[in-house]
Amino acid sequence: MTYYSMGMQVVRCCSRAGVPGPCTRQWAVQLRSLAATGACRRASSGTCTAALRNVAAAASAAGVATDGASISSSSSSTSTQPAAKVDYEAVIGIETHVQLSTKTKAFCSCASEFGAEPNSNICPVCLGHPGTLPVLNADVVRKGVLAGLALDATICLSSKFDRKQYFYPDLPKGYQISQYDVPLCEGGWVEVVVPDSGAGTSVRRIGITRAHLEEDAGKLVHGGAASLSGSDYSLVDFNRAGVPLLEIVSEPDLRTGAEAAAYGAEMRRIMRFLGVSDGNMAEGSMRCDVNISVRPRGRAAFGTKVEIKNMNSFNAMQRAIEFEIVRQVDALEGGREGEVVQETRLWDEGRQCTYSMRKKEGLADYRYFPEPDLPELTLTEAYVQELRASMPELPRQLRERLLGLGLSQYDVLVLSDDAEVAAYFDAVLAAGAPAKPAANWVMGDVMAHCKEVRLGWEQLAARMAPAALAEMISLIEDGTISGKIGKDVLPALLAGEGGAGGGSVRALVEARGLVQISDPAALAAIVDGVLAANSKQLQAYREGKTKLQGFFVGAVMKESKGRANPKELNRILMQRLAAPPS
Ligand SMILES: [Zn+2]
Repeated sequence: MTYYSMGMQVVRCCSRAGVPGPCTRQWAVQLRSLAATGACRRASSGTCTAALRNVAAAASAAGVATDGASISSSSSSTSTQPAAKVDYEAVIGIETHVQLSTKTKAFCSCASEFGAEPNSNICPVCLGHPGTLPVLNADVVRKGVLAGLALDATICLSSKFDRKQYFYPDLPKGYQISQYDVPLCEGGWVEVVVPDSGAGTSVRRIGITRAHLEEDAGKLVHGGAASLSGSDYSLVDFNRAGVPLLEIVSEPDLRTGAEAAAYGAEMRRIMRFLGVSDGNMAEGSMRCDVNISVRPRGRAAFGTKVEIKNMNSFNAMQRAIEFEIVRQVDALEGGREGEVVQETRLWDEGRQCTYSMRKKEGLADYRYFPEPDLPELTLTEAYVQELRASMPELPRQLRERLLGLGLSQYDVLVLSDDAEVAAYFDAVLAAGAPAKPAANWVMGDVMAHCKEVRLGWEQLAARMAPAALAEMISLIEDGTISGKIGKDVLPALLAGEGGAGGGSVRALVEARGLVQISDPAALAAIVDGVLAANSKQLQAYREGKTKLQGFFVGAVMKESKGRANPKELNRILMQRLAAPPS
């Protein structure tokens, strides 16, 4: 493994005469203070965390966290104020960094793959060597425009790139190429389906402020500890430096942790449906920074905004927000306004709390100026229209279509969560299966199988053709086999024995002697045989132990090797059981 040490980066930066920015001495101080802040906050946050957990539990018990972030002082265990009940609401905005899944980086031809040998995908351009020139990757623009269109944003036909200056050892150039005042996409909205505190859902439209293109920084790997604080040394991997990102900024329209989690999940779904990003949070392909403040409900002015980073799932994001809402309200209610300051906090998954990382820099600190090495980005209306025409079905449109098939909201949400699941389901429908039974099979046994053996849906389709599943469903629907036999046959289909459907599944169940017995005479013969062999139970039934009906059904099923048509069997059995003793 080849890492550059941070020391090397320090020397390089200092040797670059004329580059504006803090010197390495300042950087060392910054690192020390970061480490000190992290360590100190964590060490001292024990009691505080416990107290806040109590508050969080109380608030949660009152249904606060899930139904609108309405929090009042009466739920606060640490408040010293008399109960002047103020109703608070949270104001939440999210900045989402989406890594665009291009083959190469944004401004050079290095591969942008994840997981390569450290510092193997680097070149003088993405390392910012003097004299090199960035060249914009056309696929970055294409994917950025597609995402913008999916968010119903206005695509700016003329936008530009800017340099965002800051110093950090994972940033080889000392600046990041980004878009400042004229982004690629402006405005827009996204529809999110939010689970409410009951079993239902509500739909909300969240505004998008803008979406702009930028390049990613490299990555620090800390030795001896999971984070900078407590580590003995740090290594830097520049493979990620220059990888294209789309930063999507939401309006401060979100009010609860649940809404924020639903927003993040929908954003990832949209990017995946479009094929512009894999949205893999564990690999950092999608990262959300949350801005959150609280204010008395009804007040227009925003409270002091805190940023939370470092959440690696939407579930963690929801919990971090819920914790932070309670922390801020608790501080305000307790007369400790000074505890809510403009800062960046990190989410500690282990302790389930946020802790202070650093005070937030203002915008001016980045000293943006237009990127002199890149021309203005000019698009034609025809180019945008061409991309608009090539857009696939989006999650929201898919949900509407599936609801139109008569499926329940729950079914629709499960089937539309993943484009591959939806494509498989659609293929089963296209092969002739009715929607509801197809949904039940896909969401039930088939999905369970895929999860159990970690099978992707495209791989699944290669083994069990959607048409084979559709044929099995039609055999159940027309009474050829029972649902129970269907479950028994499914493993054979999953092993590829159902071929491409169109008769092969019928041939399979016939060859295995699994065709359902629906003929009344044949069923009556089996029922009579069972009743004759169990005369004691029959007598008990007729004397009032009607619970024995299940026993007879089971016995007939066993005798017929599971092939008795359940409906017909029940009809004949009830007829015989009701007959007066002869
Ligand atoms: Zn490169």
